Amino acid sequence: MSGRVLVGVKRVIDYAVKIRVKPDNTGVVTDGVKHSMNPFCEIAVEEAVKLKEKKLVKEVVAVSCGPQQSQETIRTALAMGADRGIHVEVSGKDYESLGPLQISKIMAALAKKEDAQLIILGKQAIDDDCNQTGQMTAALLDWPQGTFASEVTLEGDKIKVVREIDGGLETIKINTPAVLTADLRLNTPRYATLPNIMVGSRKLCSQRQNKMQTLFFFRQAGMKVETVEDLVGKLKEIGKV
Ligand code: AMP
Repeated sequence: MSGRVLVGVKRVIDYAVKIRVKPDNTGVVTDGVKHSMNPFCEIAVEEAVKLKEKKLVKEVVAVSCGPQQSQETIRTALAMGADRGIHVEVSGKDYESLGPLQISKIMAALAKKEDAQLIILGKQAIDDDCNQTGQMTAALLDWPQGTFASEVTLEGDKIKVVREIDGGLETIKINTPAVLTADLRLNTPRYATLPNIMVGSRKLCSQRQNKMQTLFFFRQAGMKVETVEDLVGKLKEIGKV
């Protein structure tokens, strides 16, 4: 396999922050609270970057769905060694109602659009603890899945995955294209150093069009648009501009 890998990177409240519930009990306080990349997504990025360093894959694309600030999470992935980022902008009430099924549909659509051979996600996001997105993405694409991976070896068109299961470890061999989800012991993610974050941001500024692509989902009108121009065009069509 020497294709493209998509990695899902979710922006979540930092694991070290003490969570506070909003006074009206409608959710948790997020304003002014430190956010970071979901820890299992860091492990997923590390694994993808390692495969690239071993020349077993040709491109690593980090995907984040969420508000504007999710671009910071993509920058961290770029600083760790990802080649490109795709930000699917979903904010406000839309983001609050975005669950694993919607994320899976986005991942599956992007995998087709980008002609990806591998998707690596975290085993779970530490905010919703769903542990569903990898499984649903594999089902939607009808691709094999290697979840809770603690060791991944590419062998031609096959992948050997050692999985962490209740009874210990299980080894499976699956065909590519495939979906993997990263468990805690898969690797130790490299630290995105400040100089690398600066390099990542500079690359991003100078080659914004190439490095980071933003897909806008305009859900209110039940439409999907892919560029700012398309978005403005559609808004004009329905008389909102
Ligand atoms: P979950 O099924 O919500 O526990 O999430 C499992 C994994 O799916 C995460 O570790 C990410 O790799 C991916 N994922 C979930 N939500 C998002 C998101 N908003 N943007 C990008 N990737 C996501």
